[in-house]
Amino acid sequence: MSIADNISSIKKEIGTKGVKLIAVSKTKPLESIIEAYDSGQRLFGENMVQELTEKYNKLPKDIEWHLIGHLQTNKVKYIAPFISMIHSVDSLKLLQEINKQALKADRIIDCLLQLEIADEDTKYGMEMAEAVELLRSDEFKALKNIRICGVMGIATLTNNRKKTQEEFYELNTFFRGLKAAFFRNDPAFTEKSMGMSGDYELAIEEGSTMIRLGSTIFGERNKKTK
Ligand SMILES: *Cc1c(COP(=O)(O)O)cnc(C)c1O
Repeated sequence: MSIADNISSIKKEIGTKGVKLIAVSKTKPLESIIEAYDSGQRLFGENMVQELTEKYNKLPKDIEWHLIGHLQTNKVKYIAPFISMIHSVDSLKLLQEINKQALKADRIIDCLLQLEIADEDTKYGMEMAEAVELLRSDEFKALKNIRICGVMGIATLTNNRKKTQEEFYELNTFFRGLKAAFFRNDPAFTEKSMGMSGDYELAIEEGSTMIRLGSTIFGERNKKTK
């Protein structure tokens, strides 16, 4: 199956459910991205700032780039001029820097709050209580150049489907809690970025609005790269 075939079969699968497909192109060459682009794909996800900016510079400008990996505050400036959405916001400090760089670029940057749902504590992401504290703070309320569009989460890597399902259910519950408490009247707060190649069907059943698929589209990555 070609990249184009993979995309078209995934799109068929999710077509009627209103779920957005982010093609995760990290570690993959430009030719692979162009093949996906030529088949109509426009949303792409990367997890490293340098790789992302290099690809941005070389590829068509109507691609919407999503940053899905951990973001260091000192790197925000490189992506602020063009990034479509940052899925990995995990602190007020990071959000303040995104706001600052967005202001400089005269933009409003869409962000998701990354919440911890997996049990390995190697994963990035905030606990629900931290997210609540962030959203309640005066510092947050002062930020005018970011827009919080929802939440993102990464489930535990496991073959236990019940566990994965419970984690997605939890993320959806967090989403509804935050929506009710802070974004009741904000039409932008709609996204649940959850589901990767191994678990996206479950994620969709649990209410995902954005799935992030790498290997299902582009094939396996070199094992050493995350
Ligand atoms: C790499 C990555 C993906 C895609 O992983 P696949 O298993 O190849 O689909 C999705 N989300 C994040 C945050 C990633 O780092």
